[in-house]
Amino acid sequence: MTKNTNQTLLPTSTAGSLPKPVWLAEPQKLWSPWKLQAEQLTEGKQDALCLALQEQQQAGIDIVSDGEQTRQHFVTTFIEHLNGVDFEQRKTVKIRDRYEASVPSVIGPVSRQKSVFVEDAAFLRKQTNQPIKWALPGPMTMVDTLYDAHYKNREKLAWEFAKILNEEAKELEAAGVDIIQFDEPAFNVFFDEVNEWGIACLERAIEGLKCETAVHICYGYGIKANTDWKKTLGNEWRQYEEVFPKLQQSNIDIISLECHNSLVPIELLELIRGKKVMVGAIDVANETIETPEEVAATLREALKYVDADKLYPCTNCGMAPLDRAIARGKLNALSAGAAIVRKELANI
Ligand SMILES: [Zn+2]
Repeated sequence: MTKNTNQTLLPTSTAGSLPKPVWLAEPQKLWSPWKLQAEQLTEGKQDALCLALQEQQQAGIDIVSDGEQTRQHFVTTFIEHLNGVDFEQRKTVKIRDRYEASVPSVIGPVSRQKSVFVEDAAFLRKQTNQPIKWALPGPMTMVDTLYDAHYKNREKLAWEFAKILNEEAKELEAAGVDIIQFDEPAFNVFFDEVNEWGIACLERAIEGLKCETAVHICYGYGIKANTDWKKTLGNEWRQYEEVFPKLQQSNIDIISLECHNSLVPIELLELIRGKKVMVGAIDVANETIETPEEVAATLREALKYVDADKLYPCTNCGMAPLDRAIARGKLNALSAGAAIVRKELANI
């Protein structure tokens, strides 16, 4: 690990995405089309990345990211760069066992033509000496965002994706990324598959990496399909309980989770004792900006189950669909809340 993540207690970060500027893509929308083309688009994406970085820095975020400014969607943008996937042949499938989406089809063996995000990561690396985190989709979530007309077997396809992700991750590490995060919202849905092959595929994706690795498991962006789904989950969300024991045993260094405003019983964190935990202390499905004291209260709760040197204050999920000013306010609240608890820890 480079720089100061090891020295700063409670280093803050975000789960990944931040809202895009209005001149780059229509705001508050997933899969929002780009408003620029060709070279202007390339330049616009880089400008947006710099703005996203600046907003994190002004808010005092310790581990920064690209805010996912160069991608349209956290899964499909990666898949667009692969052989074997046809974006013309779209099928409507139920993703995360929850909502229908029109997705591309796997029509042949999948492989990576060239690096997907390495240039963007190298660009971010040049802009800052702070530790940087880069998000990639996880193998199971990729499988779950496609129609597979070739392998016709989720595990087999996930295994192929894991090998491709490993190639990409090694190049990101070489470009100076400090933490590589795999987004696996599907881990909150398909428990048997997670335990049978999902975690094994994730371990294949991180094979040979020397940088730190994280897995992000959440209840999704604040879109209607997700908020409706949450209403069906009852008074206690115990999904994490199904996958934590095996994740605790895995080689993944950091687990990124949803905590604030969620019905996840916080004591489930005990099941991953020993791991570093990115604790979601900011609700991304709600436009109300948390107070620093609310953030601090969530972190204090988490501290009962996570050792202070392993706790990373974070957001519940990405903030792409939020209004920009609200996202900025939430970043400030995260920093201020972490500062309160840091002070308390220093006085013990
Ligand atoms: Zn998420």
